[in-house]
Amino acid sequence: MRNEILTGVKRLVVKIGSSLIASRTTGLRLNQIERLADELAALRTAGREILVVSSGAIISGITKLQLKEYPKSLPVKQAAAAVGQSRLMWAYEKAFERKGLHVAQILLTHQDLADRRRFLNARHTLVTLIEWGVVPIINENDTVAVDEIRVGDNDTLASDVVHLADAELLVILSDVDGLFTEDPRKNPSATLIPVIPEITEDTERLAGASSTFEGTGGMTTKVRAAKKVAEYGVPTLIINGERPGLLPTVLAGGPGGSLFLARERRMKSRKHWIAFTLRPRGYVRLDHGAVEAILKGGKSLLASGIVEVVGTFEAGDPIRCLDPDGKEIAKGLVNFSSTVIDRIKGLRTRDIHEQIGPQEYEEVIHRDNLAIL
Ligand code: GLU
Repeated sequence: MRNEILTGVKRLVVKIGSSLIASRTTGLRLNQIERLADELAALRTAGREILVVSSGAIISGITKLQLKEYPKSLPVKQAAAAVGQSRLMWAYEKAFERKGLHVAQILLTHQDLADRRRFLNARHTLVTLIEWGVVPIINENDTVAVDEIRVGDNDTLASDVVHLADAELLVILSDVDGLFTEDPRKNPSATLIPVIPEITEDTERLAGASSTFEGTGGMTTKVRAAKKVAEYGVPTLIINGERPGLLPTVLAGGPGGSLFLARERRMKSRKHWIAFTLRPRGYVRLDHGAVEAILKGGKSLLASGIVEVVGTFEAGDPIRCLDPDGKEIAKGLVNFSSTVIDRIKGLRTRDIHEQIGPQEYEEVIHRDNLAIL
């Protein structure tokens, strides 16, 4: 199973963390970037399609400007990222050029992904670059990204890129070997888990316990990224990027790293986008009948099944749907604002017309806009 997946994959997103390619004292690790570029270029030549998501802009900017410490304020961080990003691209450009490959810089924010038109536009650009044989090097657009529009960490960004580019595998190059049965620093007898068939709450707990010192997210955001792409039918490989030759070996079927398997039934692109790219603005709590109708009957959500609405949102916004116990069962785009839903909740269609007049929509969330989790 593991070998079939890894040897057969054509299009992959490779996430490269800051600590692999940059050091806070000496700046970019150019030898390491060259070594990784060599390995990725060889994979490209062998017919694999590679997209890189690379961190390292901020650290590179800090060392280039010789700042004394890691900046705390946003404008300083953003200024450092602006200086560092061009340096980072310069390094990738040089490294891939040695192998006769072109690179392209793509800088994204959450906002670019949350707008469906911009999302599709970015997808077309990426696919064109890949068809040309260019290696896209993607990072968050740190210079303009304030909190509301930030993705926040590059593990998450890489999982968004998997969906964006319709990739078949997410590879996270880390400074640890993968997911262990226990924290290997605390228990030397902990063993590496080669295949994780399903990402359960236990898996997430394990990831929390074995968090690393690397980058923004540690193991928790990596496993969360793996879970997100698993819903899109895409597996994730977490391996140690410090070990020369490991990635090509593993992709050729050799041992190393942890592979998180995907769901067999893959969520459609638009529904995955609703469920995992958009940020919900509020939630509705449903009664048992509505939960049953949605989960088993594949029905739309009607006002009659809503018992409570929380948050302030407008028609068209993404929200969460909770069952009577508060468990999230779906996410969807609403046809009415929270104010209107509050007035019509629990009512049947006829009574809704009496309450607020004739409406364009019957459903609060149409099933085409409802992603079941
Ligand atoms: N975008 C940031 C950078 O390039 C890194 C974010 C992350 O490592 O998750 O410096």
